[in-house]
Amino acid sequence: MGLLLLIATITICHAQPAYVNSFERPLSDVLKDISVRFDVKLSYEIDTTGLVLPYADFRIRPYSVEESLTNVLVPFDFKFVKSGEGRYKIRRYEYTRKIPEDGEKMLSYLLSLYPDKESWEQRKECLQREVRENLGIDPLLAKRVHSEPVLSKIRKFEGYSIQNFAIETLPGLFVAGSIYAPLSKGKHAVIISPNGHFADGRYREDQQLRMGTFARMGAITVSYDLFGWGESALQVGNAAHRSSAAHMIQAMNGITILDYILTRNDVDKERVGATGGSGGGSQTILLSVLDNRYKAVAPVVMVASHFDGGCPCESGMPVTLSCGGTNNAELIAMFAPRPLLVVSDGKDWTASVPTLEYPYLQKVYGMYDAREKVQNVHLPEEGHDYGINKRKAVYDFFGNLFSLDFQKIDEDKITIETEADLKIFGKNGELYPQHAIRSFEELGRYFSNGVNAEK
Ligand SMILES: [Zn+2]
Repeated sequence: MGLLLLIATITICHAQPAYVNSFERPLSDVLKDISVRFDVKLSYEIDTTGLVLPYADFRIRPYSVEESLTNVLVPFDFKFVKSGEGRYKIRRYEYTRKIPEDGEKMLSYLLSLYPDKESWEQRKECLQREVRENLGIDPLLAKRVHSEPVLSKIRKFEGYSIQNFAIETLPGLFVAGSIYAPLSKGKHAVIISPNGHFADGRYREDQQLRMGTFARMGAITVSYDLFGWGESALQVGNAAHRSSAAHMIQAMNGITILDYILTRNDVDKERVGATGGSGGGSQTILLSVLDNRYKAVAPVVMVASHFDGGCPCESGMPVTLSCGGTNNAELIAMFAPRPLLVVSDGKDWTASVPTLEYPYLQKVYGMYDAREKVQNVHLPEEGHDYGINKRKAVYDFFGNLFSLDFQKIDEDKITIETEADLKIFGKNGELYPQHAIRSFEELGRYFSNGVNAEK
């Protein structure tokens, strides 16, 4: 059938009289030709069936496979990604993912907008306002219920404790997580730890190791589910995560959790930080813009000027359209002159940080004579994770800033708990209160007028 269609298309093309000829050819044929001509292997994440390219052969540049591919793919909103030597993947245009050259152009454009501190401060004000508007966070925050958190019994381990919690944010909607605290008395630093899209979410081993170690070092640290993951998935389902609502709700969750933690009388409000990897890094960046209570932050394997995160929980709302266009590098620059650690690696979009985003951040920090307050730990041999070397960088950063106890860094002392241990509403959500919503559809009530009146 496909072959027949192809033949039909070619026939139609050839049937064009010369005076209306637009030199059309099936896209799949043109790509095959490119593959042979330039001796490259193409793989497809898109369907080229039935697609016809006008002025097909005129688009080829004999000296450049990449220019040829660009010219051929652009009418269809397709793009290519180099996946190895002589190998390219053809995929759909991704609005969130650009290339470092785009980032470079964007950052130099942005720097041209603020030649001095005064113009930067104006830009910052605009971003602070429009990010909130574009995210739609304030109307959501206004609908919160402010109820007492649900708390589990405290479990004691070697040098730290864990307590599960849940907070009702909107009527019937909960965010659940675990609070890791030092066993020592006195006022403790706080480190909020939003999660990324790593398998097993907040229950995974490296997350537990980091949480436990921070607590042993003297910081209260909080791990909590992504919206539609973990205990939240038991409420609204996994699919809920891939909605624009996730972007707003996760930001609300981060703010609400910090609200609660700061009501405890064992916390020091002058030592409040946040760190997360990947999607948790995106949330760290966003929280640092929305919430001025943070004194230091460490987004891990996320800061880039050419990729803002492709999940709806990171870019489901048009935050990066604020003030004529922004990106994660500029959003985190707004944290200047407060201490910032950017952890990057050699195998994802943060590979460009040492040569692109870090110099940009230093320029912004330089406006405050605070270049030394922004650090970059770059791990060129490493990939996209929150592995031991990234954790060490973050232990160092918060350890120094928040006067934590470096003697207590020993991940072998951390007890890895099961997923069920870390849940407050039971393994399968059986302990959710009666009024808890139990489907994604019910979420609609929070996003229409007079939401709170329902129920
Ligand atoms: Zn997500």
